[in-house]
Amino acid sequence: MEEKKNLWSSYDEAAKKELHEINEKYKACLDAGKTERECVKLAVEMAKEAGYQDIKDVLKEGKSLKAGDKVYAVCMEKMLAMFRMGEEPLSNGMNILGAHIDSPRIDVKQNPLYESEGMAYLDTHYYGGIKKYQWVASPMAIHGVIVKTDGTTVQINIGEKPEDPVVGVTDILVHLSAKQMEKKGSVVVEGEALDLLVGSQPMDKKEDEKEENPVKAYVLQLLKEQYGIEEKDFVSAELEVVPAGAARDFGLDSSMIMAYGQDDRICAFTSLMGFLHSKPSAKTKVCLFVDKEEIGSVGATGMHAHFLENTVAEVINSQGEYSELKLRRALKNSKMLSADVNAGYDPLYAEVFEKNNSAYVGKGAAISKYTGARGKSGSNDANAEYLGILRKAFDDAKVEYQTAELGRIDAGGGGTIAYIPAAYGMDVIDIGVPILNMHAPYEVSSKADVYETTKCYKAFYEM
Ligand code: MN
Ligand code: MN
Repeated sequence: MEEKKNLWSSYDEAAKKELHEINEKYKACLDAGKTERECVKLAVEMAKEAGYQDIKDVLKEGKSLKAGDKVYAVCMEKMLAMFRMGEEPLSNGMNILGAHIDSPRIDVKQNPLYESEGMAYLDTHYYGGIKKYQWVASPMAIHGVIVKTDGTTVQINIGEKPEDPVVGVTDILVHLSAKQMEKKGSVVVEGEALDLLVGSQPMDKKEDEKEENPVKAYVLQLLKEQYGIEEKDFVSAELEVVPAGAARDFGLDSSMIMAYGQDDRICAFTSLMGFLHSKPSAKTKVCLFVDKEEIGSVGATGMHAHFLENTVAEVINSQGEYSELKLRRALKNSKMLSADVNAGYDPLYAEVFEKNNSAYVGKGAAISKYTGARGKSGSNDANAEYLGILRKAFDDAKVEYQTAELGRIDAGGGGTIAYIPAAYGMDVIDIGVPILNMHAPYEVSSKADVYETTKCYKAFYEM
């Protein structure tokens, strides 16, 4: 096998400057986008700045979308599709990049607040695949929305500013962990033990009007004062508990980034950079951000929903002469990259990798022809012909890439959104950034891979 080179040694000063700039931007985006809603808001702001218009407004005016037009569509504040119209008719197909913007985290339950032994807690239900024991004893922030019955939405963001308090899940001291330390990893910390400690001070009250749960009452009083919300408002809330704090440079050489939620915001960011900064092409370009990938791509905002298809139908309809056949052709003739992260080779856990078919941090985006588990099960096994086309495009654009499977056979496995759009008959393949510590509260990526993957996605749009 051809040995892939470490990308750092191939960059001159100009490239290193570009690399630094894009990674500074990436860190700022990670900090501003810690939930799918925040990611959509941020991406829409960036798209608007680049001249993109809400498709709703364009359609209301009865405008026909033509070459050069730039529009975006949002679904439930959690899913986003951006289109840059090309010269060719849509039925010739589009070049689509799709990344997911949901990440593993801990969600607050609908009836969450309780008091126990003078401490107030928020009950939670974790989201996505996590090693639960990794999420305790560290500072956490609460991000999300609370919708009141009058229709107003209260934005919540507690724990990110230096002056903010943080919250967190406690763990038992090692001195009393004799039994816990003997348990299997999956049950060392159980799901119902991931409740969030949020208070310990009772409300000030006169002796004659004693509260049954004074600590809980004080938390509710603060929420009322600061956000105008009542206990019942938790019912119509989406509160996501995520690791507090900003993305940081990682390594003594600052060659890497440690941050929450890089699966898959690293591919969302590099997709968006490739999308906004690629040259206009004959084919229509689409950049798609989806939600719910971590729980099976289900629901109205997951890849299984008809959002992409419906939005493409609206675009075709705006051009007059809508037909279902045109829509089907547009989807079938498209080429897509499922932009999702891969497992970076970790020499400390070499036993779960197979060296020749692993993704290495600092060696570029990794193409996975297939994912899946136990004999490729559940995988979109991309067509060899499509890989041939991509190899040529990346070679022509002088983009470094690698190929990888997700770990050793039968070591585990995982999936992405790739198999879902593949059902339209379009070419789809997985390609994304290798990550260390994937799904841990803080994941690690290489700055060289952020830079190189942006070039890779740009080359895809320009092919
Ligand atoms: Mn992912
Ligand atoms: Mn994931």
